[in-house]
Amino acid sequence: MLQPPVSEATDEAFLAALGIHRVAIPVPFPDAGGPVNTCFLENRDGSFTLFDAGLGTPDAEAAFRASAEAAGLSLAKVSRIVVSHGHIDHYGLAQTLSEETGAQVFVHPADWDKVVGDGRWVEQADRYRSYFARLSVPEELIHKMAKLAGSTSRFARRVDEARAQPLSAGQRFEFARFTADVLHMPGHTPGLVCLWLHEQRILLADDHLLARVSPNPLLELGPKGEEDKFPALLTYLASARAAHRLDVEWVVPGHGPPFRGHRALLDSLFEFYSRRQERILSRLAESECSALELVVALFGATDPVRLYLTLSEVVGNLEVLEDAGRVRRRLEAGKYRFSLTS
Ligand SMILES: [Zn+2]
Ligand SMILES: [Zn+2]
Repeated sequence: MLQPPVSEATDEAFLAALGIHRVAIPVPFPDAGGPVNTCFLENRDGSFTLFDAGLGTPDAEAAFRASAEAAGLSLAKVSRIVVSHGHIDHYGLAQTLSEETGAQVFVHPADWDKVVGDGRWVEQADRYRSYFARLSVPEELIHKMAKLAGSTSRFARRVDEARAQPLSAGQRFEFARFTADVLHMPGHTPGLVCLWLHEQRILLADDHLLARVSPNPLLELGPKGEEDKFPALLTYLASARAAHRLDVEWVVPGHGPPFRGHRALLDSLFEFYSRRQERILSRLAESECSALELVVALFGATDPVRLYLTLSEVVGNLEVLEDAGRVRRRLEAGKYRFSLTS
């Protein structure tokens, strides 16, 4: 958990004046960083673009409809849906709202398979199983993790191919009172995008920048199961440095209220990862380790619910250290062993 030196907005009138209306929807995930945001963005013709589409459970849908109605935001006026990234709490209602309104759903190609079509969970699950085995996760835990992952479909409906449009970096959307550029900021997921209101210095950052939790860049294999296609934390840190360079005044995150001070937040995040890397290095100074042994050294227990997050964090930091030439791995009897290079 981060406690960054940021200041949060208590009044969002400055956003409403620009035609940006945030609706927060409760989510049942303790690590998410609070209710998930959807933003109604006023278009020139009086309709709305929805930036993110919440979670698709009946409770979340009821909460979303009630909050939108209470705020005077008509869902019937949604003419376009932009999905920031392929996590269930950000695209969950996209298909339902698109069926209701005819709105097209925009998704970055790198997250397309997470959001659009039938998905390839069964095919992918085997690849993840063997990857987790190389990370020394016991079979019984892998089984529990696979069951948990397979159950996420009840949180989100997948979007029909005919309703989906690919987003591209550099794409620009015109709204009633501002223009926003699509910024591809891979890391938290491979296809995550932010909307950047350059003139207003507002970044709709979704889960790229979160004030209350680290953004958990998650383990991700390539489409053919490649392990090195998407080193999540290395990729995230490059995108975080790109966000650091932006002259942002306000961040509207994916969870929680808008905040200022994105550079202070990112500096504390960079320090947070450096400290994690120091802990990994000091454990490796004692002996060669498996990935799972490092999870236990850093986080104690290996609760299957949290194991995907904690493994992601350990492997992500190991990949950063390998990239810096400080750690190496070898494969022994089908399992990775990590050690210091000197
Ligand atoms: Zn996310
Ligand atoms: Zn999220």
